[in-house]
Amino acid sequence: MPDTKLMQIPGHIDPVPVPRPGLVEGVTPREDGRVDLIGLPKKRIAELFETAGLDARAAKLRAKQVFHWLYHRGVIDFEAMTDIAKAMRPWLAARFVIGRPEIVEAQHSSDGTRKWLLRTADGHDFEMVFIPDADRGTLCVSSQVGCTLNCRFCHTGTMRLVRNLTTGEIVGQVMLARDALGEWPKGGGTMAGLDDFDEDGEDGGSYSSDGRLLTNIVMMGMGEPLYNFDNVRDALRLVMDGDGLALSKRRITLSTSGVVPRMAQCGEEIGVNLAVSLHAVTKEVRDEIVPINKKYGIEELLQACADYPGASNARRITFEYVMLKDRNDSDEDARELVRLIKRYKLPAKVNLIPFNPWPGAPYECSSPERVRAFSDIVFAAGISAPVRTPRGRDIDAACGQLKTAAEKKSRAELERLYAEKEKALG
Ligand code: SAH
Ligand code: SF4
Repeated sequence: MPDTKLMQIPGHIDPVPVPRPGLVEGVTPREDGRVDLIGLPKKRIAELFETAGLDARAAKLRAKQVFHWLYHRGVIDFEAMTDIAKAMRPWLAARFVIGRPEIVEAQHSSDGTRKWLLRTADGHDFEMVFIPDADRGTLCVSSQVGCTLNCRFCHTGTMRLVRNLTTGEIVGQVMLARDALGEWPKGGGTMAGLDDFDEDGEDGGSYSSDGRLLTNIVMMGMGEPLYNFDNVRDALRLVMDGDGLALSKRRITLSTSGVVPRMAQCGEEIGVNLAVSLHAVTKEVRDEIVPINKKYGIEELLQACADYPGASNARRITFEYVMLKDRNDSDEDARELVRLIKRYKLPAKVNLIPFNPWPGAPYECSSPERVRAFSDIVFAAGISAPVRTPRGRDIDAACGQLKTAAEKKSRAELERLYAEKEKALG
């Protein structure tokens, strides 16, 4: 087996892929030795072509053509690249591949939500979710296999093994979704074996002016995206690149549990909308349910939000707030939330998320009346506070339900794991 770069908790909190001699940095090695081009920017593709024997000019030209076929047309076979000389195509195919994460399982919720269990070339499983709505289609993308953090209400936090996804594995999720939705421009590639969204008519209809179903991306799948900053940034750059997948940064939202030192960089270098998993307004409760709070407290976090580059009344920061019965859902909590948002003069909206249960979870969801009362208090202060409708609960695709290994842990085992993760967090 190639290097798995798998990380056992406890360990580094920010697992960084270590380049090894002979391997292409940031690309998951394949057993057949070929290099996956997905995830590489045009310049890197040109360098690889040059190393493989093309002269500099030819390498640059071919890289430009190949890049267009990869990201704009979605082809997965060099033979389909009709403006590349016939003789050259097998030369490319012998050295490179156009990868997609492998689909292990595809599930379909009764509400139209889709969840895919995906696998990396070196055998690690992660998940991706597509949520169709009346006026948009949102892809929920994972940034890590598992998560080094351990928010007490989140199933992903109970996973022991963690590995950063590569740039290609992150952007590959978006490409896979476009494959499945049949959304590449005409003449683009289609993948055999994928179930087709359009055929059953259920997701029919077009949401955007150009007729696309996939209109929005949220970095809200498995993992903490700001603990895998470089790969997330590079993947989102490919998604936003006009020659690439060409999705507007206004339609992309990155959610963080509060990795304060990376937030300004996120605004500057990626420029996407920010969502923050606040979930509590006192140190005592947030320390318990979002333990990264012990490292970066509420004040520091809200100051980083106030300083977030690009935030404005037109581009508000979303505060996610999971509703946990008798833990963070009182009228007093709602009033404190309003006070904090006003104190930091934040252009904010609040997203109230009914807690999605999972086996062994130590919390219950607040009652609908409580959620409504909480929402009303925030609304009355002039801050939008919609309640998020849980989607895909029947296939465990809702927020915080993602977890790949089907292992069950006892409460004592979970407490031990959480203690280990917190020790690693320092
Ligand atoms: N790690 C990032 C992004 C992934 S989680 C983060 O924490 O922000 C996406 C959202 O789902 C976060 O707001 C997270 O706190 C929330 N969430 C996690 N578990 C949940 C659960 N069981 N019920 C409802 N929301 C949950
Ligand atoms: Fe990780 Fe986010 Fe889950 Fe917390 S809520 S454990 S940061 S994925």
